[in-house]
Amino acid sequence: MATVSSELAAKVKRCEEFNAEACYHCGVCTAVCPLGYGIMPRKLFRQVMLGLKDKVEEQVPAIYSCLLCRMCESNCPAEVRISENVRALRTLVNNKEL
Ligand code: SF4
Ligand code: SF4
Repeated sequence: MATVSSELAAKVKRCEEFNAEACYHCGVCTAVCPLGYGIMPRKLFRQVMLGLKDKVEEQVPAIYSCLLCRMCESNCPAEVRISENVRALRTLVNNKEL
């Protein structure tokens, strides 16, 4: 059972650097990501926006593994600024704000 943190959901909603609201979960980003993690970045962003704190915490290694290559971003039909979002998540992790 997932732990829902309304605090996390509200925090990322306020965060100017994190914005994945345009995402419509097409999965293109996940398909082109060289890391081959099924979670990155589509499902991760969904978990973040829903405030699924424990699920997101499980993905900290993936968040730090991202190469910031922007392969996902350049293929995203919704123009989600994926690498910027990943950076914002790293900042939250670094500041122990997850
Ligand atoms: S490619 Fe863009 S719209 Fe599609 S799932 Fe990824 S972030 Fe969302
Ligand atoms: S920027 Fe990160 S999430 Fe996007 S394709 Fe590159 S490694 Fe994958």
